[in-house]
Amino acid sequence: MAENELEKIQGWIRDHHEMFGSSIPLIASENVTSTPVKEAIVSDFSHRYAEGWPEERVYAGTKYMDKVELQCIDYAKDLFDVDFIDVRTISGVCSNLVTYTALTRPGDKMITSPISKGGHITMGPHKSPKTGIHIGGTAGSVHGLDVRYFEFDNEEMNIDPDKTAEKIRELEPDLCMFGASVFLFPHPIEEISDVAKEVDAKIAYDAAHVSGLIAGGRFQDPMEEGADIMSMSTHKTLPGPQHGMVAATEEHAEDVKSATFPSMVSNHHLHNVAGLTVALAEFKKYGEDYVDQVIDNSQALGEALSERGFDVVAEHKGYTKSHILLVDITNLKDTIGLGKDVEQRLEKANIILNRNLLPWDIQEDRHFENPGGIRIGTSEITRLGMKENEMEPIAEYMKRILMDEEDPEKVQEEVSEFRSDFQDVHYCFESSKKAHEYIEIGK
Ligand SMILES: *Cc1c(COP(=O)(O)O)cnc(C)c1O
Repeated sequence: MAENELEKIQGWIRDHHEMFGSSIPLIASENVTSTPVKEAIVSDFSHRYAEGWPEERVYAGTKYMDKVELQCIDYAKDLFDVDFIDVRTISGVCSNLVTYTALTRPGDKMITSPISKGGHITMGPHKSPKTGIHIGGTAGSVHGLDVRYFEFDNEEMNIDPDKTAEKIRELEPDLCMFGASVFLFPHPIEEISDVAKEVDAKIAYDAAHVSGLIAGGRFQDPMEEGADIMSMSTHKTLPGPQHGMVAATEEHAEDVKSATFPSMVSNHHLHNVAGLTVALAEFKKYGEDYVDQVIDNSQALGEALSERGFDVVAEHKGYTKSHILLVDITNLKDTIGLGKDVEQRLEKANIILNRNLLPWDIQEDRHFENPGGIRIGTSEITRLGMKENEMEPIAEYMKRILMDEEDPEKVQEEVSEFRSDFQDVHYCFESSKKAHEYIEIGK
């Protein structure tokens, strides 16, 4: 009986691995780790506590964990060219809570991006003015911030620097929070930082999505452009395990340290710190080549989709300067449907991406459950070794399923066949294991 239960659970996990191993994974917030990273994650570090700063812990048995964490900090400081970084936050959400705790008090005013314009749930207010949902975003619900919004330019797909500067002068917020989940172009921090300083507002930057692009030197450098704190996830464009990091100027270093511990974490997922350390060592060696290819791929996929009649947002700006594309699929409304329908139809062909609000969806009465857009990311397919040439067949599969209304289950066979040539993880230390292989360690 017990054995069967185990087989049942492992069966589901194996099925998941098999599904991902024959799919085209295009979720912009996801990536796949190398085998040495996976090995670190299943190590004994996953059973341990090490509260406090390395070499100043309030737990015993941490000698080697300290060495790893100090190495992690060194790599991260070097990659992000910062003097201070805390690698203990266990996720991007946790990193943003550390930012809020270090820079604000409940009741303070924060100006940021709304979800409809790329903002993340962690930036949201307690009660959504649009949906009326109580206990909404992290900033309002967990930290009591009074959330206001940047002015957004739909044409430019970016924060409008002039209108936003005006609004900041008028509102006098305590914190300006940049960064986003739909993040096509670098945010205008430099343009806005002067007026932020005039009104004594702090500047934070949420690099959850773009931390890898920043470390690879292919996006903006927020700390150089005036941010006080930069929060991150370590598993989106930075291909590490699910974890977080928070970089800060010297001035805010001590506050970030104590906002992390004892405020936000007790155990800090030491196995993921170990995995992250390996991932950063890999990134130092392969990161620049990797992010170059990620961005080349997203731009090539934008072009390939556009050529096939898809309305890829920001065409006049070359679609994107990141790993993300946003596609307006409202022209499919009468045939396939909207974002949710498109997402589900593609999933039947093992093309995995997600629905997303367009900046103008709310005005046009569309809702996050079935919005007018889809979001596409090229981080994971690039790790699998795909280059510009592979973007054509991917766009073609999407066209056949969505425009020509071919049966997605038929197309799925071709998708699996296509994917069979891309089974290894690239831009990392070598291993004989496949990217989405289920690795048995029990036998
Ligand atoms: C993904 C994301 C987060 C949350 O990151 P987790 O690591 O999943 O907690 C925070 N902010 C932004 C902008 C994100 O896109």
